[in-house]
Amino acid sequence: MTLPTTHVSFPAGAVTGESTVLAVHPLDGGRYAVVTGATPFHPLDHTWPDQPADLGTLTVDGVELAVVDCLTGAVGPDGGPDGGSVLVGADIPVRRGDEEWSWLVLHVLAADPGDIVGRTAALAVDAGRRGALSASHSGCHLLALALNEALAPRWRKDPGRTDAFGNPDFDSLAMASSVMDTEASTDTYRLGKSLRKKGFTAEAAEEFPALADALPELTEAVNRRLAGWVAADAPVRIDVPGPELTARREWNCELPEGAARIFCGGTHLHHLGELAELRTELRLSEDGSELVAVTRPKRA
Ligand SMILES: [Zn+2]
Repeated sequence: MTLPTTHVSFPAGAVTGESTVLAVHPLDGGRYAVVTGATPFHPLDHTWPDQPADLGTLTVDGVELAVVDCLTGAVGPDGGPDGGSVLVGADIPVRRGDEEWSWLVLHVLAADPGDIVGRTAALAVDAGRRGALSASHSGCHLLALALNEALAPRWRKDPGRTDAFGNPDFDSLAMASSVMDTEASTDTYRLGKSLRKKGFTAEAAEEFPALADALPELTEAVNRRLAGWVAADAPVRIDVPGPELTARREWNCELPEGAARIFCGGTHLHHLGELAELRTELRLSEDGSELVAVTRPKRA
């Protein structure tokens, strides 16, 4: 039997669940990966590792085992009768969702759990950590929309990609990396030649000062927008086309300006009123080649 792609309940916000242990796979460093049929755990994505792994516990026959990491695993079409060759994270040679492959949530344990295959595991995610990561992730998407809007006048031509509000999608066109932790989301944008070719200008023009000089004003505009969205207590949901880990999910937020949608594999708040505040800080590197946004949610 090949291992089936894991069914996940984290998109709806679940932090607990129960499922049968399908396999235990030894990892490097004396660690072990437990595979279950379904799980509430959000693993680190190997293709776009923006949201860190959930941590928590897995309880089998009354024995509580600490889940010290949670990774994405994959078994190829030739994985063998027992799904023997589970590849992990960066070792996976194909992009997430390749249909020939099985995609697995790997609950990483620090030691061998023994023979637990076939048993029922009670899965429990560290809910405090998950809540903080969800707040940071929702903040990251809102920052993207607010920043796109604030930078919209700096596009000299249509870059061919717009966000849900019709603004040039600076966030996705310039994105170098996006990383969340329990405190903040840090988004790094590259302001290089290719962005300039697409029509973006960081230089001064009649209508605006150079980007470096405009930063305080831009920051204020973005933060004003973010504060308005938090005050509107906009509802957030994840549209889920299927229960599989690899389903193409979409973040949805009913903002006063309209419905915003962004493809997303992570976890989120249920409504923005869960935040007391959301503020970003914009920094430009000395040589002007990199813009960094650190967006911090304060939970209500
Ligand atoms: Zn996302």
